[in-house]
Amino acid sequence: MQLWSRRKFFLTSVASSVAAGVGKVFARPIPADAAGVSLAPAQGTRPLIISSANGLHALDKGMDILKKGGDTLDAVVATVTVVEDDPNDDSVGYGGLPNEEGEVELDASVMHGPTRRAGSVASVRRIKNVARLAQTVMEKTNHVMIVGDGARRFGVAQGFEEMNLLTEHSRKIWLAWKASSSVNWRPGIDSPEWKQQMTAIFGDDQEKIAYAERVIAHPPTGTIPCMAVNEKGDISATTTTSGLSWKIPGRVGDSPIIGAGCFVDNEVGAAGSTGKGEENIKIAGGHTIVEMMRHGKSPEDACLEALARIAHNYNGDKKKLSTFHIFFYAINKDGQHGAASLWRNHYSEPGHSVYAIHDGTQARLAECKAYFDEINTHG
Ligand code: ASP
Repeated sequence: MQLWSRRKFFLTSVASSVAAGVGKVFARPIPADAAGVSLAPAQGTRPLIISSANGLHALDKGMDILKKGGDTLDAVVATVTVVEDDPNDDSVGYGGLPNEEGEVELDASVMHGPTRRAGSVASVRRIKNVARLAQTVMEKTNHVMIVGDGARRFGVAQGFEEMNLLTEHSRKIWLAWKASSSVNWRPGIDSPEWKQQMTAIFGDDQEKIAYAERVIAHPPTGTIPCMAVNEKGDISATTTTSGLSWKIPGRVGDSPIIGAGCFVDNEVGAAGSTGKGEENIKIAGGHTIVEMMRHGKSPEDACLEALARIAHNYNGDKKKLSTFHIFFYAINKDGQHGAASLWRNHYSEPGHSVYAIHDGTQARLAECKAYFDEINTHG
């Protein structure tokens, strides 16, 4: 029950950092109507580390490394590793929701500002810490990106452990999705109805059944982007994800694409993203945001500009734009931060979407600026 409550689709309270730390499961926003959610500051602070809201409980780890004078890339990778290791976060690493064949496929990227290097992996099976794998590509090879079985074999050669990334929970949800989407994966017409099928999978747990029905109807995405600037002004970033659930095997989103799901320029800042990666790839969002900041925009305004470009791709048609959700997150060299979401929130949740920040005092949530200040009732 405890585990289950961490996966709840709608978190109704963000006051507790423990509950809120897992709140942005599946890139779903947390209602920001509770105490402890702040607006982005006009003044920057260094060191600073930020992430999507599902990293809130892990930011201490990265801040600790920054405060001890550690490298900014080590700080962000250590932070997201906590989330990758967490079987209860269905959006990243171990326990991530799988592709349509029931296989978890992970994507990740890193950029190291001071040395101007990058590393990335995509469609990786059976290795959970793909942010560290992307860092290893950067540090140990002459390549930037390795994908698929090549990335897995590279990981094994580098000493990464192979494992089944599917948890019992994610396997059952996948089976329920299979049953809902194919007549071959459910009993024939002479068999019990759908609800009974769900009961066979989940027992009597109505909360789990409601959750499964929800993620089947709206295939969730989920990710953690994390970026940091240290006292000196050096910057690094990473983004790691299990991507879109029920995806076609081999589908790659924006997270491992340098310049889309992750981008750093040590002279300027860093940007990352969650949500429908296809939309981000088409505008090279990470790079766009950093260029906007280079020309003087605040992190928040730069994120809004990227969303404006996505909206422009649909001529501002809100009906089409309501079929998905996307978020951008950014920091600049001065330690200012900001984030923006295409929609204020999802479904009937109150408040705004939020992201997580740690400026040296404590980890807390801050509000994302909404491009459309409306609740998205569809995507
Ligand atoms: N952006 C990720 C992708 O498209 C998923 C997500 O952030 O939820 O793979």
